[in-house]
Amino acid sequence: MLTIKTRLKKGDSVIVLSGKERGKTGNILKLLPRKNRAVVEKLQFIKEHSKPSNSNPQGGIIEREGSIHISNLSLYCPRCNTGVRIKSERLADKSSARICVKCNEAI
Ligand SMILES: [Zn+2]
Repeated sequence: MLTIKTRLKKGDSVIVLSGKERGKTGNILKLLPRKNRAVVEKLQFIKEHSKPSNSNPQGGIIEREGSIHISNLSLYCPRCNTGVRIKSERLADKSSARICVKCNEAI
């Protein structure tokens, strides 16, 4: 499967570009690179039927975060209040920062 190159990282703040959660923001909990998907905090809840288990003796329906395709996600800039493109910039201490191309602030 083709893997889309992404700059998204775990913990990043993202905005959803399309789908039922469009316009909502959240933090990435987990990346699923081989599926080109990401799990975003409190978004795309799915209901899952589970059989009784030790941790959930009753079984039944549980809700958890489903994954969103990364092409539907964009890094979110709180200053611009929108999804933005970013560029990488090398800092004086040789670490690299990701800069919002709109407001030139580090994300
Ligand atoms: Zn910005």
